[in-house]
Amino acid sequence: IPTIGVLALQGDVVEHVRALERSGARAVGVRRPAELASVDALVLPGGESTTIDKLLRIFELHGPLQERIAQGFPVYGSCAGMILLADRVLDGTADQRTLGGLDVTVRRNAFGRQVDSFETTLPFAGIDGPDVEATFIRAPWIEEAGEGVEVLARIPADGGGDAAGRIVAVRQGALLATSFHPEITGDARVHELFVEIVKE
Ligand code: GLN
Repeated sequence: IPTIGVLALQGDVVEHVRALERSGARAVGVRRPAELASVDALVLPGGESTTIDKLLRIFELHGPLQERIAQGFPVYGSCAGMILLADRVLDGTADQRTLGGLDVTVRRNAFGRQVDSFETTLPFAGIDGPDVEATFIRAPWIEEAGEGVEVLARIPADGGGDAAGRIVAVRQGALLATSFHPEITGDARVHELFVEIVKE
């Protein structure tokens, strides 16, 4: 069984730990470089990407994590975690930096005030059965994805205004990212997919 860390600096850590355990992995919180070194993969939870970025530097995890990502370390980023994995950010703060690794441009808080937070179900490439339950909370979307990036889910074409057709889940090698939070639904299939990626 793989041991998957959940970055435990800010955000909804416990929900990811539970979802990973339901998906057949061992899950532990990660706050220190030694803990990062001891896990097979990592989840970057939702929260506030600017805050998590600052905490990653304070806790001296930023450099080691970037290095591991460059070596093919599997990471799943949800919402703020997706922003942290993105090579390029739109509507970030002036000093916002990311870990990078994922060849995408994300737009922070992309869905705007009116649909700030919402729940829906989405078809998801590689996940069979009913559509995946997806909860969006001040979520980003992916505005541009490079050639090596596999698009796994989009807002449906009739999804309304500017959001229609936007990319909300991707995979590039061992990196997986979703705009939404699957960990707060009962649907563990995105975590199961990540556990499969880790086992590869
Ligand atoms: N809006 C947050 C950010 O920009 C992300 C929100 C979330 O993770 N639920 O970091």
